[in-house]
Amino acid sequence: MKAKIIDGKAIAAELRAEVAAGVRELESATGVKPGLAVVLAGCDPASVSYVTAKEKACAEAGMRSFDIRLPADAGQDALLERVRSLNADPEVHGILVQLPLPPGYDAQAVIEAISPEKDVDGFTPENMGRLAIGRDCFIPCTPHGVMELLARAGVETAGRHAVVIGRSNIVGKPLALLLSRKDANATVTVCHTGTPDLAEHVRRADIVIAAAGRPGTVTGDMVKPGAAVVDVGVNRVPDATRERGWRLAGDCDFAACAEKASFITPVPGGVGPMTIAMLLCNTLQAARRFAAAGARGA
Ligand code: NAP
Repeated sequence: MKAKIIDGKAIAAELRAEVAAGVRELESATGVKPGLAVVLAGCDPASVSYVTAKEKACAEAGMRSFDIRLPADAGQDALLERVRSLNADPEVHGILVQLPLPPGYDAQAVIEAISPEKDVDGFTPENMGRLAIGRDCFIPCTPHGVMELLARAGVETAGRHAVVIGRSNIVGKPLALLLSRKDANATVTVCHTGTPDLAEHVRRADIVIAAAGRPGTVTGDMVKPGAAVVDVGVNRVPDATRERGWRLAGDCDFAACAEKASFITPVPGGVGPMTIAMLLCNTLQAARRFAAAGARGA
């Protein structure tokens, strides 16, 4: 294997320790203890495990976490009411509504009910719009985590050609915006299911970001020698050698891509751990703003 493996677990641990130090500093200077409210409707097992992991990470960083659980059939109005009461709660600095919501909910309306000052997922139109025009905002956690991984692993983005596979609002689109901002200064190509020849674009990439949610999307022959490969995909693939019958895989053929790339992120242990670390960073940022506004008497 030629590529250097970017250890997302280690980088995320580094970040979480920095956040914990920031939390202690903020609390001792201002008395403000950052608080994150996590709202879960229903009991989808994957969502429950994500929510539990987020709450555990919050506690480890010295933050307060507010665990709000609603039955799957609570209804849109009850959910909106909870979000509005969290918007008004001065102990809550960040609000996250775990997606996907059960059938029957209008997720976009719920997102839009979150106060932009507490939108630590960065999904409200206000924060997405600010990201698009290069203003200060909460950056969605997974794309933010990818940028942080690239920076901390020493992958240069300026002047390089980045190919982003996927254009979702939570991953591909914000990543394309972040990479093309002046501070990153990459030239960006965005690919999706309407792209006729994906391989042709990937072959020209200095940085490949795969966020398609399809195993095997990027094969070794598509990777330019020396390119950096970031695999955002998380897929369950059948594996008879495992007791549970499956394993997690990304969107890239890891072994073959690692032979060609200069840097590569594994799945699991690459981008995944960064998402929660960036959520903590965003919550600390929200609490700092709240403390600063209080000091100004706003
Ligand atoms: P999504 O909403 O399903 O979007 C997938 C995107 O990839 C779409 O834009 C789709 O194109 C494009 N696409 C799918 N197959 C393609 C192909 N064969 N060639 C080119 N483009 C293709 O998924 P998402 O929410 O962005 O998530 C993407 C992946 O990242 C998933 O595996 C998800 O589990 C993972 N993820 C990981 C984390 C983490 O923390 N590690 C966080 C979020 C997501 P169209 O727009 O044309 O349909």
